[in-house]
Amino acid sequence: MRILRLILGDQLNPCHSWFKNIDDEIIYVLMEIKQETNYVLHHAQKIIAIFAAMRDFKENLLKKNHRVIYYKISDTSNQQSFSLNLQSLISKYFIEKFEYQEPDELRLDIDLKNLCNQINIPSQIYSTEHFYTKREEVKDLFKDKKQWLMETFYRYMRKKHHVLMNDDNSPAESKWNFDHENRKAWKGEPKTFKDARSIHNHSEIWKELNESKIESFGQDQAEQFRWPLNRKEALKQLTFFIEHLLIHFGDFQDAMHKDESRMFHSLISFALNTKMLSPSEVVLEVEKSYLNQKIPIQTAEGFIRQIIGWREYIRGYYWAHMPTLQDENYFNHKHSVPSWFWNGKTHMNCLKYTITQSLNEAYAHHIQRLMIVGNFSLLAGIDPKKLHEWYLGVYIDAFEWVEIPNTLGMSQFADGGKLASKPYVSTANYINKMSNYCEGCHYSKNERLGEKACPFNSLYWNFFIINTSKLEKNPRLAIVNKQIKSMDPNTIEDIKLQAKKHLENIETL
Ligand code: FAD
Ligand code: SF4
Repeated sequence: MRILRLILGDQLNPCHSWFKNIDDEIIYVLMEIKQETNYVLHHAQKIIAIFAAMRDFKENLLKKNHRVIYYKISDTSNQQSFSLNLQSLISKYFIEKFEYQEPDELRLDIDLKNLCNQINIPSQIYSTEHFYTKREEVKDLFKDKKQWLMETFYRYMRKKHHVLMNDDNSPAESKWNFDHENRKAWKGEPKTFKDARSIHNHSEIWKELNESKIESFGQDQAEQFRWPLNRKEALKQLTFFIEHLLIHFGDFQDAMHKDESRMFHSLISFALNTKMLSPSEVVLEVEKSYLNQKIPIQTAEGFIRQIIGWREYIRGYYWAHMPTLQDENYFNHKHSVPSWFWNGKTHMNCLKYTITQSLNEAYAHHIQRLMIVGNFSLLAGIDPKKLHEWYLGVYIDAFEWVEIPNTLGMSQFADGGKLASKPYVSTANYINKMSNYCEGCHYSKNERLGEKACPFNSLYWNFFIINTSKLEKNPRLAIVNKQIKSMDPNTIEDIKLQAKKHLENIETL
């Protein structure tokens, strides 16, 4: 039976069982199409990285004697949509069955299911063999629960997959969570490492993108390209992280610094999300490092929590709450994303550094995304859907299944607190504690009112004042709510006025 198998751009897993046998009756197809470049405005590096990794994947399949059809973005026969290209191939090659792996995004899930209903041959869907959990597993676990506690899910995962566990099913070293021992600012010590990722030159793809009139933004860096493009490079990055950076990850995972974009972060999200790396091998390697006494329990636990905890939980949250999640807007926020989100030209140092870095590198680490860009956006009342489109376009690792829950749920509280137990917002105090951004900033971190006052300071209090009815019952906000209740009316008026001024001048902040 002649079979056509579709491989999506984020399904580049050479270890998938599909590839175990060589079969002349199976034709694999990969396609660079406008349907995927144009659904949101993307960072140039993101498009180049995915296409370059797909091309590398195709070469490897060919070397192993698999039959492969590849559509480049500039090919004249490319009809730039999955369904049109697939339908042509089905009739051209007399295909008798169509097969694909479970897409991670609802939009593609619907698209491919529709296609299967249109074609008059059988079709079959396979697992990507990537995640620990099934799409529905998180939903099933929390079936009747109001609050979806990540910690509950994380412990369930540790037990189910026997990760960092003793034989009697108790957690290694008698504790589930070593989180509070983390979180330090970074003052130049310990020294960070030079970027160990390989440099690629992909000016050819860049040229093709321009010729095909694919719109993008940000630094293309086609000649200085560093994202891993295949499994070998991804494994090299993982090994480098485990050998040199992991030991400091836990302590400095929330630290931010003007001169350091990577700090001790792993930079494996792109490789993970395109499935070059599997989460289980990441977890096993980290656990091995702990068992070999190279790292202490708090380091291993803190990192493993990110992978089997947060990453899998976020995915389950996505499948449980889509499609309604993408339209959630608990605070009814309506502002557009300020124009300086696209060029980094703001006087606020923290945002200037984080956004400029994001536009240059298509990367910012978690706390920069959450406590700088997300924090400001929530305080400033940016429309969460517009913000989601910004995040989805900017970051190299941004695929809807992981980006939407993080942006709308964790960062913007747009789901009213199903994912996050309180809004992640702060004044300048937190930003100053965890970074050196406030040094030399145009604004004063200590002032709440006046020309030079840091916008975070009044916007923070204003946010809680105007949203009292929506947040006053939240037990995690008891202290803030108490402080607001004890404020005299004049102070409240001053804060509201100052916040109003900032928001009226948001474009020139
Ligand atoms: P490290 O800091 O080294 O962490 C290791 C790994 O843990 C990451 O590679 C990632 O796979 C996993 N991880 C940690 N936290 C999370 C989380 N909250 N959700 C899912 N996985 C997590 N991550 C994405 O992969 N794609 C996104 O589009 C994305 N958008 C985000 C948007 C916002 C507003 C926020 C607050 C976070 C977002 N994250 C996203 C989560 C996190 O910021 C990135 O996974 C991380 O910064 C990637 O860099 P790293 O590989 O160096 O991660
Ligand atoms: Fe950001 Fe305010 Fe600090 Fe400036 S003073 S860097 S705006 S937190």
